[in-house]
Amino acid sequence: MTLTQDALLTGFRGELITPDDSRYDEARAVWNGMIDRRPALIAQCKDTMDVIQAVRFAREKNMLLAVRGGGHNVAGLAVCDGGMVIDLSGMKGIVVNLSARTARAEAGVTWGELDRATQAYGLATPGGVVSETGIAGLTLGGGLGWLRRKYGLSSDNLSSVEIVTADGRLLTASETENADLFWGIRGGGGNFGIVTAFEYRLHPVGPEVMMAFVLYPFERAAEVLTFFREFAADAPDEISAFAVMGSVPAEPAYPEALHHKDYVLLAACYAGSVAEGRRLLQPLREQGEPMLDMSAPIQYVDMQMFLDADYPAGKLRYYWKSVYLNSLSDDAIDHLIMQAASRPSSHSTIDIWQLGGAISRFSPDASAFRNRHSPFLIGVEANWENQRDDVANMEWTRTCIQELQMFSDGSQYMNFPGFLEEGEQQMRTSFGRNYDRLVELKKKYDPTNLFRLNHNVKP
Ligand code: FAD
Repeated sequence: MTLTQDALLTGFRGELITPDDSRYDEARAVWNGMIDRRPALIAQCKDTMDVIQAVRFAREKNMLLAVRGGGHNVAGLAVCDGGMVIDLSGMKGIVVNLSARTARAEAGVTWGELDRATQAYGLATPGGVVSETGIAGLTLGGGLGWLRRKYGLSSDNLSSVEIVTADGRLLTASETENADLFWGIRGGGGNFGIVTAFEYRLHPVGPEVMMAFVLYPFERAAEVLTFFREFAADAPDEISAFAVMGSVPAEPAYPEALHHKDYVLLAACYAGSVAEGRRLLQPLREQGEPMLDMSAPIQYVDMQMFLDADYPAGKLRYYWKSVYLNSLSDDAIDHLIMQAASRPSSHSTIDIWQLGGAISRFSPDASAFRNRHSPFLIGVEANWENQRDDVANMEWTRTCIQELQMFSDGSQYMNFPGFLEEGEQQMRTSFGRNYDRLVELKKKYDPTNLFRLNHNVKP
């Protein structure tokens, strides 16, 4: 008898894919081109009952288990060698409840799909900045996007989830039902079960928002970043901004004369009226002569897709890490500029995310997501083409993060975790006092650590 004929999977409505299936290579591919893993079974679920059956099967057979939403996990944890993948990417249901201002989305939905459905009503919930990322992994790890300072993290906007726990039960978790579980899944990732549906609170957004997107020559990075620090300190919550250092891609979206030139980018979204946004974002556009200024009013759904082309699935190799900064001091700026100048790959960037606003108004104990106080997050994104350059690019990223420790409390954002090689120590530092509570929850909901391919809390 083959795996797919097992009685435990009788009636499974989705697709069961094994290595001899012609669809196998497509089904096991994930976004990060570095990842090449060969699971024994991929269970592409069609509905919640499929998920329940698949979890029971993995537990009974004692199989290593990976869970896939959008497949964008940087460490490639949505796929494993030899075990089973429970793939939710085909579960695409979305229902918007206009009177309650909520949206219920199944776990295979991407941000682009959810934004489209909610923007039909002029509503949105905070997502990420690339539309192809899955709502599932991003929300469970926190979720930082263009609305973060106005409305908080994606996980801050959850009103409930439906989740299949390790014993195969389907539970609802919210502030009033299984509240401990609801606390843990908001930042604690996939440790406690497989979320089959997310319910988000929605807010009026757009349909048009003001976007700032201004590239300055890299040689002026010190003064531009110093300005960015001051701008960020006084910005209203409607503004969520970034500064990025990188090289202009050789893409038709950019004038040919600028291709490969190094830049420092100031980018922001104003989550309010376009007129007010245009006025308040104007200073970002006036820091001397820009190389290129693409700032404009833009449909919110288009803003959400604006960066998509920079992150092609499967084509590049990716290794991203992060560190929270205590402040963007002159010293930190000097380090960041030196690090950007030493990038081994022109596809790579150093990103400075402005935090604060609504994120900082949630208590660090309100959910598992701990870091509410840091004003900036640094994302070091190594993106490159050839396997032979793996070591140089990964080393560059690690060195950058290492050198930035002196400006940080050491905590990382778990959605940009490298390959999670620092293990439990990093988890303890990043979750602080919340870590022990996560361990208690893990013991209660997943004592055998069935769900371990994630930023893992050991029971
Ligand atoms: P997957 O690889 O499918 O899943 C990631 C992990 O989440 C899995 O290994 C599993 O542990 C868990 N998981 C997935 N689905 C479920 C489920 N239904 N139930 C339980 N556990 C589950 N992050 C931000 O905060 N903001 C951004 O703007 C942002 N932009 C990004 C852009 C790109 C191009 C990429 C690649 C990543 C970006 N990220 C961003 C990081 C992103 O949040 C994480 O990579 C996240 O894990 C992706 O979720 P996914 O569902 O697509 O990934």
